[in-house]
Amino acid sequence: MLNINEIKLNLDESEEILSTKISQILKVKNSDIKNISIKRKSLDARDIPCYVYSVDFEIKNEDKYLKIKNITKTIKNKLILEKIETPVRPIVVGYGPSGIFATLGLLRQGIKPIVFERGSRIDIRSKEVDKFFKQNELNENSNIQFGEGGAGTFSDAKLTTRSKDLDMQYIVDVLIEFGAKESIRYEHLPHIGTDKIRSIIQRITNYLIKEGVEFHFNSKVDEILIENEKVKGVRVGSQKYHSDIVVVALGHSAFDLFKSLHQSKVYLEAKEFAVGVRVEHPKLLIDKNQNKDYYNLLDSASYSLIHKINPAYSVYSFCMCPGGHIVSSGSNKQAICLNGMSYSLRNNKYSNSGILVPVRKQDLKNDDLFAGFEYILNLEKKAYNLSNSYKAPAQNIKDFLNNELNPLKFESSYSNGTFPYNLNNFFSENITNCLKEAFINFDKKIKGFIDEGIMLAPETRSSCPIRIKRNIDYQSVNIENLYPIGEGAGYSGGIMSSALDGLKASIKIKDKIKNKE
Ligand SMILES: Cc1cc2nc3c(=O)[nH]c(=O)nc-3n(C[C@H](O)[C@H](O)[C@H](O)COP(=O)(O)OP(=O)(O)OC[C@H]3O[C@@H](n4cnc5c(N)ncnc54)[C@H](O)[C@@H]3O)c2cc1C
Repeated sequence: MLNINEIKLNLDESEEILSTKISQILKVKNSDIKNISIKRKSLDARDIPCYVYSVDFEIKNEDKYLKIKNITKTIKNKLILEKIETPVRPIVVGYGPSGIFATLGLLRQGIKPIVFERGSRIDIRSKEVDKFFKQNELNENSNIQFGEGGAGTFSDAKLTTRSKDLDMQYIVDVLIEFGAKESIRYEHLPHIGTDKIRSIIQRITNYLIKEGVEFHFNSKVDEILIENEKVKGVRVGSQKYHSDIVVVALGHSAFDLFKSLHQSKVYLEAKEFAVGVRVEHPKLLIDKNQNKDYYNLLDSASYSLIHKINPAYSVYSFCMCPGGHIVSSGSNKQAICLNGMSYSLRNNKYSNSGILVPVRKQDLKNDDLFAGFEYILNLEKKAYNLSNSYKAPAQNIKDFLNNELNPLKFESSYSNGTFPYNLNNFFSENITNCLKEAFINFDKKIKGFIDEGIMLAPETRSSCPIRIKRNIDYQSVNIENLYPIGEGAGYSGGIMSSALDGLKASIKIKDKIKNKE
């Protein structure tokens, strides 16, 4: 197999002509080029924008073509999971991306885990989320954070795959195997959309059930059972389930189980997190700014912004959702927290993004281990208490800078409605000043960012304020056979890195079981 780089197509040209282009460069017949697969696709936005491809293909007598510019041999490596035979059934607590890939990884190595997930399966969970959006009735155990698929289920499902290692390729392959489009393999900024990711996850779960994984949905684990610094199982209500291996894949919102882990003397440490607002703009404004004259030929535009307040402290955009919706993504009653989601077509008329300011130890009132969680919950409750409802406080960005309050420029896409509020009175002085300085800087990069934008508060759950410290073998530093993984354990951020963490943990667990038997 060969690879050819730097094949260019105009924005309106079909990928079907890639084979013709390659045959012209190689000076062979089109039919001589076989089994084309795109390896990378990127946009070259200089001068007249075009897509640039790297393509693998097969041809007879391939060595003959290696002298041609941009052609090299393709080396295809795949992660092969070693299979063992064992009666051991590890428990996995939490079924978000890290829990899913820990479970799937274990299964494909011959180990059948037992999964406990506090939320519902996706079909029921979707109705529960819908009920919250329409009737403000939140189920604290099954919502945008909790349930089959975890926090990324009601998301944009942007798949940030910076790591090119074989394990990451394995995850991409699994997503495609269960229904994701092939292009997530090579797009620069792949995304799936909430509508598509939900059915992919459902198919994965059904497959795991068929292969013998035991699932307990709507089952909140209240305690991890530990004896003599070794894990012994979990407790769900009054029921105990025993296993000598427990994976905790909790996500960043399981405040209750973190407290229980602390009481059980599992070593936890506080870590930096971030809070801020969600800004929203007309999608057309962002598209025109980012894609210039070609905005109607290109996909909905995203942006990634960062402004250094000082060398050690930056304000940044987070989880940008082109053509998306702002959603109430909390898991606590009478508290508001915001995030963004979008459908695969990304065709809502607004685009939104989190704008976040880091919160460090010195910004918290005390150095208690749980001070970060309290800080987050206080902000979320403050937002709720302002109107005694799930309506989010909202303001025009321009008015925020001028310390004024005028009617909003447009009605936000936010799921539970907004009310006008001067957000100068919401955050600490430091956060308010950081946001203002960053907005002025962002307006230089995206024209109209200030004048045409609105902002809603608060965005609080971008990462976990706590880390469950582990060793390089993925076990807790002080509790044997406890495997803390994913975003809640403090070792990943986002869908793909959390999935990767779960898969890598499954390999460590298999190695441990194998070496013991
Ligand atoms: C609205 C929204 C949009 C997002 N958009 C994107 C995006 O586009 N791209 C991206 O990369 N990331 C996105 N994220 C972030 C991404 O979802 C997370 O980084 C990722 O889901 C973390 O995976 P995880 O497995 O570590 O934890 P989670 O996905 O949070 O999963 C943890 C699971 O553990 C369960 N659990 C918690 N406590 C218990 C307990 N006591 N007993 C049993 N089960 C328990 C929870 O119910 C949950 O299902 C988004 C998040 C949200 C909320």
